[in-house]
Amino acid sequence: MINNNNTIHYLKSGTELIIQQTPTFDVRDFIQELLEYLPEWIFSLIDSVYIGNFKDLNDRDVTALYLDGAIFVSNEQPTAVEAAKDVIHEFGHVLESQFPYEIYGDSEVKNEFFDKRLTLYYLMKTRYKCDLRAFRNVEFDEEFDQWLYSEIGYDTLNLLIQGIFFSPYSVTSVREYWAAGFEKFILGKKFDTIAPRLYNKIQDVLESITAQ
Ligand SMILES: [Zn+2]
Repeated sequence: MINNNNTIHYLKSGTELIIQQTPTFDVRDFIQELLEYLPEWIFSLIDSVYIGNFKDLNDRDVTALYLDGAIFVSNEQPTAVEAAKDVIHEFGHVLESQFPYEIYGDSEVKNEFFDKRLTLYYLMKTRYKCDLRAFRNVEFDEEFDQWLYSEIGYDTLNLLIQGIFFSPYSVTSVREYWAAGFEKFILGKKFDTIAPRLYNKIQDVLESITAQ
């Protein structure tokens, strides 16, 4: 996955930004965006951020991924802001992999997500053929993910989730619910009225880590 023709920049806490393929977006804007929104300590949780054209991203049809202590982000993104958003989202996954007990230990996030899934199920089942078992499974399920993305479509889903979920992607699984919420929180967007337990949990987790 890693070659030798790299340009290296430094983020915070010794974390390297390694550019393997020239990005379609401005790297300085990308770095500026990350440093503006993310707290400094969070960079110490990973070794590096890689920008490039990676097989793992292409295989999974995603633009970013947290893997083996590093965040990989696609070099082909419309804007530096989009690319930075991806990295912020992946930091959400970094936190849940390193602080699983703090995040999921009391089931608050999971229960809130589960309730929302059921609400959505009862709303959707009048119009679509819905599988209750899939709605009750809070873990990632490729078939369900594809059904939401391809068959229902995110434009339609976005209308259906009004007042329940804050984004179509956050419906995917409890982990994406957490990461999408984390991304929103870091970007300073309020969603405590729609997802109070998630919002409070993010606030609590960030406070407890910084107090350590
Ligand atoms: Zn994610």
